[in-house]
Amino acid sequence: LAFLDRLPKAELHAHLNGSIPLPLLQELAQEYLSAPTIATANADALSTPVVAADVISGLQLLKAGVILDRIDDFFGLFPAIYALTSTPAALRRATRGVLSHFLDGASGAVAYIELRTTPRETPGVMTRREYLEAVLDEVEARAPDAAALIVSLDRRMERAVAQEVLVLAMELRREGRRVVGVDLCGDPKAGNMEDFVELFRTARAEGLGVTLHIAETRENSAAETVKLLSCEPQRLGHATFLDDQAKELVLARRTCIEICLTSNILCKTVERLEDHHIRYYLERNHPIAVCTDDILPFRNSVLAEYALLMAPKPVGLGLSESEIETVARMGMQSRFPNPTP
Ligand code: IMP
Repeated sequence: LAFLDRLPKAELHAHLNGSIPLPLLQELAQEYLSAPTIATANADALSTPVVAADVISGLQLLKAGVILDRIDDFFGLFPAIYALTSTPAALRRATRGVLSHFLDGASGAVAYIELRTTPRETPGVMTRREYLEAVLDEVEARAPDAAALIVSLDRRMERAVAQEVLVLAMELRREGRRVVGVDLCGDPKAGNMEDFVELFRTARAEGLGVTLHIAETRENSAAETVKLLSCEPQRLGHATFLDDQAKELVLARRTCIEICLTSNILCKTVERLEDHHIRYYLERNHPIAVCTDDILPFRNSVLAEYALLMAPKPVGLGLSESEIETVARMGMQSRFPNPTP
């Protein structure tokens, strides 16, 4: 593991609220439960109102270890977590904890992280701008060559909200804040992509990096994939079920694929590691970035994902040290340009 540990690695696909270390989440839960000032946290379009009992059962589930039957079950985990990151102070602590896990972590630090998050408003407590400012304050407390922010647009957002979030990302970047890109995330079944592609084209024109969760499940249609690729994203999340035509385009454009091995196996979108689409891209020397996605439910780490590359088959992919060095380099090279170096 010393070899993997020393390798300069970039984490380019980590969702803030899915990456809070469990002990910190437990602290946040204790505080929330001792003074649940926000009776129905996050009464916005992205989450159902949460009561204390939901937080307790959500925490118990995360402590016991999440077992998912299918990817659909995964998104139900978030409302309970969201209740705990609904104030600027709690969000700052969560962000600090996540950054520390990745950048200072005893179990394998990364050289660079692009953290991503979906701004939520807590009525009467925090606006979406205040949400992003709180996260950015923590990101910017780190060296510019260590951390940056990607602003996520959730597929479940109404068009007006998605537009508001994009405008915020652009405004904050113009103000010199460390926003390097935008992302499309959320339940792969939700949303009308017609509404989103225009927003992502605007983001590209503004100079923001664009990364899209795409073809994450078998049910995502080829037509939707074509539409999303028309925004010319520089990176793609998962891209598990691209058809031959989409793959051809991705290869021709050298679009980086963000690979999340453990996430895909636990969400059961990929049955076995030996079937994983990483192999297709490795064989073609195509840019990939090996990432964790959500360390909280998946209990993984960047080091563990790299260990899967190295472990002999069938447990791992059996890559050589020089192949793994190439993968790590590809991740570092796929970072979005940072406007405030
Ligand atoms: P947040 O954006 O910081 O709130 O992180 C949690 C959110 O990330 C979830 O509510 C999802 O919308 C999104 N997310 C996390 N993992 C995945 C994934 O594998 N696919 C799509 N969206 C995801």
